[in-house]
Amino acid sequence: MTVFSDPDFDDHEQIVFASDAATGLKAIIAIHDTGNGPALGGCRMWDYADEREAARDALRLARGMTYKSALAGLPLGGGKSVIIGDSRKIKTPELMRAMGRAVDRLGGRYIVAEDVGTSVEDMTEIRKETEFVAGLPAALGGRGDPSWHTARGCFVGLRAAVEYSGRVQGSDGGLDGLRVAVQGLGNVGWHLCRMLHEAGALLWVSDVRAERAAEAVATFGATAAPVEAIHAVEADVFAPCALGAGLNDRTIPALKARIVAGSANNQLAESRHGMALRQRGVIYAPDYVLNAGGVINVAAERTGYSEAEVTEKVDGIHGTILSILARADRLNIPTSEAADRIAEERFRPHGKRGALAA
Ligand code: NAD
Repeated sequence: MTVFSDPDFDDHEQIVFASDAATGLKAIIAIHDTGNGPALGGCRMWDYADEREAARDALRLARGMTYKSALAGLPLGGGKSVIIGDSRKIKTPELMRAMGRAVDRLGGRYIVAEDVGTSVEDMTEIRKETEFVAGLPAALGGRGDPSWHTARGCFVGLRAAVEYSGRVQGSDGGLDGLRVAVQGLGNVGWHLCRMLHEAGALLWVSDVRAERAAEAVATFGATAAPVEAIHAVEADVFAPCALGAGLNDRTIPALKARIVAGSANNQLAESRHGMALRQRGVIYAPDYVLNAGGVINVAAERTGYSEAEVTEKVDGIHGTILSILARADRLNIPTSEAADRIAEERFRPHGKRGALAA
């Protein structure tokens, strides 16, 4: 397995392979950048096909956290960890404690939190071994599940994209009658549906769990759409809130919505798809800008923000999206690239690489 020549290697500061024979822990911790502060990022537990896939996921996700925290104005760097294995089969409290010891050995350069396959309960186990953990329950001084804040950031960012497009709905500038297709009705998608419904939007929904879609039809008066066709619904906004890589060669030509704004991480299958969206006249609100509400909330555990300050910061996503969309138009570049450039100015102010200046 190669690391330094891997396409996903981006001058990461440190990559640690951690194992514990007694519990079966096999983990990779990737620290991308600590220029703005300790690298905070979730721990993903996934049944990867092989170690290479796990390492690439860690590298890519760690880099994404640097950009996300820089754009959100947080005093944090970027990092992420992955544990190899099916969380439903091999996860035990002892394994999570072994992960806690691996995190502790980094002395605070990396702060772990929840991600896919790990939970608030897992962070509670990790806390027994290290103080460098966030996403804890209220009883341990934490702020619990961050999904509501993630959804709130998506909502204000989506509204910014709608405003920018000139498609403001209703006389009060609300979202009355706006047609939104929401893909994925999990923690974030559900909260987002509620916020949109309360703002007067009309919803189309899909989830691989059919019962979840039926619940949204009953709760929000939504229309259920087939899982494989939600991106092609005749809507104003497509909101991907399921898994990554949903914007690709197959789905982009079929998009009817003029705006894409959702919470899923890594929505572009490849970076060239940012330009493909631009060429089709689709306004894409970059994923890691829109979904920063979660890390803003989790960071508050470490930095001591109040609830009011967290809300103010999350609501700031509205202005950030507006400035990214304007910059992309000014420079005729994809919105994803405009976001990257602004983030890079913040965590690499002296331009680690020559090509980054905007
Ligand atoms: P979740 O697991 O609670 O929900 C995901 C939902 O998507 C599930 O209901 C699942 O059944 C559904 N789904 C999976 N594949 C699908 C498909 N092909 N079509 C339709 N539905 C599908 O996850 P979540 O916490 O709601 O997060 C959603 C997305 O937002 C993820 O990409 C996550 O990485 C990202 N995100 C979440 C947070 C957070 O605070 N939870 C923060 C930042 C980013």
